[in-house]
Amino acid sequence: MITPPRTEVSRRQFLVAGGFAVAAACLVPRGLFAQADELVPEAMRESATAKITVQTLRRNISVLLGPGGNIAVLTGPDGKLLVDAEIVTARPNVSAALASINADPIKQLINTHWHFDHTGGNEWLHEAGASILAQENTRKHLLVDTRVEGWHHTFPAAPSGAIPSTVFGEEYAVHSNNTTLALKHYPPAHTDSDISVHFEEADILHVGDTFWNRDYPFIDYSTGGSIDGQIRAAEANLSKVNDKTIVIGGHGAVGGKADLILFRDVLVEMRDKVATLKKQGRTLAEVVASKPGARYDAEWGRSFMTPSAFLELVYQGV
Ligand SMILES: [Zn+2]
Repeated sequence: MITPPRTEVSRRQFLVAGGFAVAAACLVPRGLFAQADELVPEAMRESATAKITVQTLRRNISVLLGPGGNIAVLTGPDGKLLVDAEIVTARPNVSAALASINADPIKQLINTHWHFDHTGGNEWLHEAGASILAQENTRKHLLVDTRVEGWHHTFPAAPSGAIPSTVFGEEYAVHSNNTTLALKHYPPAHTDSDISVHFEEADILHVGDTFWNRDYPFIDYSTGGSIDGQIRAAEANLSKVNDKTIVIGGHGAVGGKADLILFRDVLVEMRDKVATLKKQGRTLAEVVASKPGARYDAEWGRSFMTPSAFLELVYQGV
């Protein structure tokens, strides 16, 4: 496997600009295909040139949709506040996208969780002027070498400039640009460091990787994630929204309540089907071959999270 430079551990491109998914290939988290070893370095390479689009949402809030995690951007007299930081190699295109919104300086960064496609830009954004805020487990994982079995990859400890200077446990509030941001930690879900960020006046909710819009989610069992935790977070997200709430997930298009319901329903259906098959003694290969998600696979399995990759993660947790 190619050794990634320093912290620039990235993973395969999830999404191409302006839409979804790419990356056909049979990449799975572990076990089934050898190509999984290439997932992180390939994400790094692809993200260097992947397009990033800017979508204006409500009030002074926009979103950047690119190869890694979706970035929310709040602008105003206090300078730009970002929620998430993309894959490090996406820097040139993130930088250009931010400049295209306006000339406000970059002042604050919030990480929704510790993964490289959400924290990869921490160091350069800090150098550009951002102070970094996250849940305490994000800092914990960034401070040391951390293995993600699902990606066959060990992420080296992040450089000091990438480490969040402020962390919190369960809840935190930020006031910036005449906006109140309410931050809330989830019980272990996609990882043990997931938070939601609610822009209260605009009613925009960034939920990080607890929601993938029409895309099977990766679940990081190595740092606290599980299919049941992911489902609990999906339920929690539903309790936080109304019909007008704009929801930004970690990956996929911006959505709303109906998309959260669909995501929850797909996870529950897949979990139940896989659990039943596993109880009957079916092997993972047999479960994959039975195609329990046949009616979703064409749409939901287009990114690096192929149907078999997702089924393997569900199988592991039931
Ligand atoms: Zn993630």
